[in-house]
Order: sequence, then structure tokens, then C-alpha cells
Amino acid sequence: MKSDLVEHKTEDNMVDGKLKIAVAKGDGIGPEIMDATLRILQASGAEIDVEYIELGESVYLQGNSSGIDRSAWDIIDANKIILKAPITTPQGKGYKSLNVTLRKSLGLFANVRPVASMHPYVQTNFPNMDVVIVRENEEDLYAGIEHQQTNDVIQCLKLITRPGCERIIRYAFEYAKAYGRKKVTCMVKDNIMKLTDGLFHNVFKEIAVEYPEIKSESQIIDIGAARLAANPENYDVVVTSNLYGDIVSDIVAEIAGSVGMAGSANIGKNVAMFEAIHGSAPDIAGRNIANPSGLINASIMMLAHIGQTKIADKIKNAWLSTIEDGYHTADIYEENVSKEKVGTREFADRIIERLGQLPDHFNQSQLNQGLGMIQIPEYTRENHAKELVGVDVFIDWQGSDPNEIGNNLNKVNAHNVKLKMITNRGVKVFPDGLKETYCTDHWRCRFVSGDAIFEAGKPDYPTLSYEQVLDLLSKLHGAGFDVIKTENLYEFDGKRGFSLGQGE
Ligand code: NAD
Repeated sequence: MKSDLVEHKTEDNMVDGKLKIAVAKGDGIGPEIMDATLRILQASGAEIDVEYIELGESVYLQGNSSGIDRSAWDIIDANKIILKAPITTPQGKGYKSLNVTLRKSLGLFANVRPVASMHPYVQTNFPNMDVVIVRENEEDLYAGIEHQQTNDVIQCLKLITRPGCERIIRYAFEYAKAYGRKKVTCMVKDNIMKLTDGLFHNVFKEIAVEYPEIKSESQIIDIGAARLAANPENYDVVVTSNLYGDIVSDIVAEIAGSVGMAGSANIGKNVAMFEAIHGSAPDIAGRNIANPSGLINASIMMLAHIGQTKIADKIKNAWLSTIEDGYHTADIYEENVSKEKVGTREFADRIIERLGQLPDHFNQSQLNQGLGMIQIPEYTRENHAKELVGVDVFIDWQGSDPNEIGNNLNKVNAHNVKLKMITNRGVKVFPDGLKETYCTDHWRCRFVSGDAIFEAGKPDYPTLSYEQVLDLLSKLHGAGFDVIKTENLYEFDGKRGFSLGQGE
């Protein structure tokens, strides 16, 4: 199947019928495993033309804190497909993560990590696991928006967006469809984060109904991750947001047996990057003992992505045959199971010898029978009626008695605005707080219209004007309060767009 997520400019990145790809040899074991992978690609007849880019340690050490220079960006921009070996991030402050830079700059929104057990050839407690983690790659707590607001409190903004949810969840279902997978499991924490994770979950439910042939289920991330670790055989495709995905994708890789085996794809609308899941393994670099399987599997994903599925199958089947025939690198070598301990180069040679051969024990790779294209429609924004109904004013206050700040705020005479409540770390402390609640110097003070009536179960938030908010802020400042930030409270189509305080 050919993905139209990548908008190839064919006139620019085709040479003699071959697709030009940007290749980074990486650091540590990178050059060895890349050499093995490229030899296999070449022997298999893959229609690609390699253009090398320099990334990583050497670029960092030239004083470029991002680890990538202009010429590499230009080649990526022209070629759109990157095959990348792991790179070493030098120790010490000031070096930015190249992976995060590449993901964010290139809009690589989906991280796809298939992990399958290779039982009985690679030791694992889970002989039947075959899981694909589809992780959102750009948003969530990884937006990197952090602020220290008071002596006590630093915040990190968790951003979950509707377009972000729609495309990652749709990608997960489309991936399941294209690769003949049967079930997609969504993992969220919407029992706590009702709005952010609630959005992810709601979008999942909306999109799942469009794929009736694929089973869908949702789990809370904590129990979901525990069950994934205990019974990975029960999972097929898992879709989740950035932080949870970061964690569960490492869990599945770890329990599958060897960090050296799995590849991953970072997919964007225009660019896609393929790499092994492991790092540059400096401890074994230059010794011809690294397992190149992770990068080989990444290159198979790359070939499937660019539509060269027959070649992808050919390499995958040869790789499976090599594992079955017992030619194993040191990390997976097992006395009485393996036939021969082979080096990186020799492992690649054994695969090349088997190109065209099918595995006996493992299921054959059948990427060429993929059912369709991975298509992600453009996001269309729906506009909802938005109404300002209040404001949360965050105040840095060094006192400890919530009644003192509450009573003082009640004396501030802003135009028809009243204090509804104060929370500290999300827990209501005024009015009627508990004296046991620990209070920091960070007070969230919720103001609403003076006309608001709050009957049990029927809260009514009348509209507030922005002038009222400005008047309130000016009066608070005048009264000596240290306002550190505000969050406007909106209703969208009459639906509350903000969470209640715990105990509110
Ligand atoms: P690592 O994955 O490089 O190594 C962890 C352990 O696994 C080591 O014992 C290593 O020898 C072994 N290992 C890894 N790949 C192997 C393979 N293919 N065959 C056999 N054994 C293998 O993780 P680390 O030691 O935490 O990180 C080393 C460097 O890699 C760091 O500079 C880190 O920043 C970088 N890193 C890069 C990437 C990337 O480029 N995508 C990802 C992770 C780490």
C-alpha cells in the first residue's frame, strides 16, 4: 500500500526511477548497522537512491547545539524520506535533542512502533505478542511550555488539540486497516483529565464508528499499561498521546526480548523518518557485534511506506528466515537455540543469501497484500459559539490562611464580578476549605459574573465582558495582589470548557 501522507515531489526526488532518500549513518554502532542495512536494501533491488546527511555528534561538537546543519535540512526538504541510524547526544548542558527537533520541525505527528516476539528464537515471556504502538508525537506535555510562576510552583502545559487527536487516531485505524490488524485500543486518563484526555477519548469514539470492521476499546492508561506488560498478546494496535506512548512503547520493546530488534517510523504529512528504537550503543561500537535488525526493520517500514511493498516483504521474509535458521547476533544468541553467533556484517550476509526465501515457522510477511492507502483528510475546523463566563486569576501570595486571602479578595470592588472560589493545587480551599489541605504560594481564584447563581446541580454562568475582566485585574493590582497569570473561562455552545476545582 502506498501512503499519500508523503507528498512526493517526484520530479525533485526521483533519479532514474529510484526514490532519493536522505540517509544519516549516525554515531556509535550507527555506521555499522547502516552499512549492513544498505547492503541488504541494495541486494534486494529496492528502488532507492541514497543521499547522505550528517547529523548528531560531529555536528554537535562543531558547536551546533541542534545537531543538524543547514545542508542536512535542505536534503531532507528535497527528499522527504529519512533513514536514520541512532546518534549520540553529547553529555552536558546546552545540547538539544535532535529527535525532538526533527519530529517537531518536520511535523512528524505519528510515532509507529511495531514489536513482535520472535519466540522460540529470541527469549521472551510472551511468545505470541505482536503489538503496534501508535504514539502522538508533537503535543501533550512535550509541547515544552513550562513556567516557574511562584517560589513554590512550576507548571508544564499539557496541550491536546482536536486536529492532533483526529490525525493520530485516524492514522491508527488506517494503519490497522492497511496492515490487516483487528483491534485498536485507546489509552487515556480521562477519569482525571476530563477535558484534555476526555477530548482524545471522545475523538477516538467518534472515529472508531467509521471503522466497524476493526474492534475498538478504551482503557485507562495505568491499568492499560499494567495489562499490556502482563498480557501483551491481548493487544493489537494501541493509540495514545505523547507521554503515555513514550512509556508504553518502551515497555513493549523491553518485554519482547531485545532492544536491538524493533524499528520505528515517524510519520508526517510531507516527511517521514525511519529508525531503530535503540540508541547508538557506544559500549559495543566498532566491534561488529551490534544487531542491525532494528534498522533493517525500520527500512522495511520505509519501503512499505513508499509503496515498495514487494521488496519490503522480500527483505522481511529473508530476515525471518535468518532468525529461524539460527544465525543470531550476540544480543540474542542462546546456546542450544542459536546455530551460530554472527557479527553485524555476517548477519547481513545471511539475510542477503536468503532474499527470495520464505520463513517456515514465522508467518510470511504480506505487506504487499495491504488493503489500501493510508489517507488522512485535512482537518476542518468547526466553529462553536464561545462565551466568556469567568476568569481564573492566579495569585502569588505568601500567606497560609485561605480565609485571609479569600476575605481580602471579597473586598475588591470590581464591576459586577464576584469571587466564586479559591483552589490551591486544584483543591478548593475557600470558601469552606479543610484546614488539613496543604497550601503553596500559588492561589487560583475563580471570578464569575456578580449575577451568577449556583444551585446544586444547576450552575448558571452569565456572560462576562472582557472589560469586567480588565477592571478586575486592575483593581486586584491596585489592592496589592501579585497576579501571575489568568485563564479565561469559556463555554462553547453552552458547554463548560473548564474543569471544576476538586470540591467545588
Ligand atoms: P542504547 O540503546 O544505545 O543502549 C542500551 C543497551 O542496549 C546497551 O547495553 C547497548 O549495548 C545495547 N544495544 C543497543 N542497541 C543494540 C543493538 N543494535 N545490538 C546489540 N545491543 C544493543 O541506549 P543508551 O546507552 O541509553 O544511549 C546511548 C546513546 O544513544 C546516548 O547518547 C543516547 O542519547 C543515544 N540515543 C539515541 C537514540 C536515537 O538516535 N534515536 C535513541 C536512544 C538513545
